[in-house]
Amino acid sequence: MSDPTDVRRALASWVGYLGDIGVRELSLREPDPREPERPNPSDRPDPAAALHAIREEIGDCKRCKLCEARTNIVFGVGDPNAKLMFVGEGPGADEDARGEPFVGRAGQKLNEMIRAIGLERKDVYIANVVKCRPPGNRDPEPDEVKTCSPFLFRQIESIRPAVIVALGSPATKTLLETKAGITSLRGRWGAFRGIPVMPTFHPAYLLRSYTAENRRAVFEDLKAARARIDEVS
Ligand code: URA
Repeated sequence: MSDPTDVRRALASWVGYLGDIGVRELSLREPDPREPERPNPSDRPDPAAALHAIREEIGDCKRCKLCEARTNIVFGVGDPNAKLMFVGEGPGADEDARGEPFVGRAGQKLNEMIRAIGLERKDVYIANVVKCRPPGNRDPEPDEVKTCSPFLFRQIESIRPAVIVALGSPATKTLLETKAGITSLRGRWGAFRGIPVMPTFHPAYLLRSYTAENRRAVFEDLKAARARIDEVS
């Protein structure tokens, strides 16, 4: 890992993980061989327990204005040990009512997309940039993303999937810290804290613009994600 960007990302990821397990101070001195063994990175907390702890911390969240009109907080769903994670933008009306991401029409399309690469919904983990429904299904606003996305980042750190698929612009911008639009970014690998990210079109966009070209593009992106997972499995 000689690329300084990768080193920075790996370091940020490690520090984030230490924060999650309660480490509040780091010492930069040389290790003393007489000291007991330090915790090993493979001693990571159980992902399911880590996710549970994050959900507990969120509680009955009132940290941003999205709490005012929501019915349910939509935390995330799926396998805490998933190799593949999907990130959408925020709950719609159906998700707000059920408390589960991607259960409406876009969710049916996402399920099809997952099956197209030989997986089932239960095999992956699905979450959103914001956990409460933006009124009228508008895009989440910058203050809402800033407040809520750290919880998503901690979910990602807990699961450490092999690949993340970012669905649409808000997810891609949040994970890749870019202002570029999804049309220019889809199909090109990026990274979030060392985890490969494949940006692709949001299933709701696919439903609105159901062209052969868009369907092919999404399928190509998902196949690339699947191939990357198979490489590391
Ligand atoms: N669209 C999203 O981005 N997320 C959902 O959970 C549902 C629709």
